[in-house]
Amino acid sequence: MRAAVITRLNAPWEFQDLPDPAPGPAQVVVRIHACGMCFSDVLVHRGHWPVQLPIVPGHEPVGEVVALGPGVTTLRVGDRVGVAWMQRGEGRCVHCQSWHPTACAHTQTWMDLGGGYSDLMLAWESGCTLLPDGLDYADAAVAFCAGFTSMSGLRNADPKPGERVCVLGVGGLGHMAVQLAAANGLETVVLTTSPDKAEYARELGASEGIVVTDDPGQALTDAGGADVILATTTSADLVARVVSGLRYGGRLVTMGVTGPLRIEDMTTLLFKQCSIKGSTHNNRADLVEVLDLMAAGKVTPRVERYPFGEINEVLKRVEAGQVRYRAVLQHD
Ligand SMILES: [Zn+2]
Ligand SMILES: [Zn+2]
Repeated sequence: MRAAVITRLNAPWEFQDLPDPAPGPAQVVVRIHACGMCFSDVLVHRGHWPVQLPIVPGHEPVGEVVALGPGVTTLRVGDRVGVAWMQRGEGRCVHCQSWHPTACAHTQTWMDLGGGYSDLMLAWESGCTLLPDGLDYADAAVAFCAGFTSMSGLRNADPKPGERVCVLGVGGLGHMAVQLAAANGLETVVLTTSPDKAEYARELGASEGIVVTDDPGQALTDAGGADVILATTTSADLVARVVSGLRYGGRLVTMGVTGPLRIEDMTTLLFKQCSIKGSTHNNRADLVEVLDLMAAGKVTPRVERYPFGEINEVLKRVEAGQVRYRAVLQHD
């Protein structure tokens, strides 16, 4: 099989011919049709993520099951599936025992088995989620990290009917977050540093797109504030400074910042009794909800499609923030 391999950090990924994987017990082999690229892939490329090289990245993969290992009971050859980042827990901790393996401290991921930038991918049966009939592969791929992360962020914010949501940052995650919040009947506004993205916000379902210049909190306050802020940007500075835009009892959920987050405005948190929460993939029900909304035509990813062979050019586009709004590598 042909695979894109990270052999050195901050260097182009190498195409290599690797042996076809053979599924062990409870594993399957998926023939990859499409795999989206996430900013996390850039972080892996730069060495911000603790992975052992060489490694095949790619954690938004979808395709067709082509081989079953011993003991696989829920999947069949020919099933259309995607594979989420966290595929199974070690099974015996309190989270696994409570049917919440994504919280397990010893989850198996693409880092253990290899990712989706490959013709074939090995996956745990438990890590595969069936795709709704008719859903396009490239669109479906976006559900598996960007969609899943955004939906879990929304669910973790526990929005009430009538509350107002602000999405801060409109990239792969943010453009899904806007649509998911709007599809849930919530009034949604967008804060972004890119004028073109602010203009596009209404097409995603937002009531307003606001360009942030220097003070995102003031800009949000001027626009009426928000009960929930879904911060999908990687900028810790923007996230820290948007806090003052929260309404009383507001919740800020941050999904994109991986470095230090220094909150200066503690008075907002204290006197408006606001909270800040980190969030990533939560219960798999969130992923299924995204796939169902996509199949119903209520949420549609905006996808740039590229042949698998152009992966290094795509990596540069993602790194430079040029993608509108998710780049997906296609194998067919
Ligand atoms: Zn991702
Ligand atoms: Zn566990």
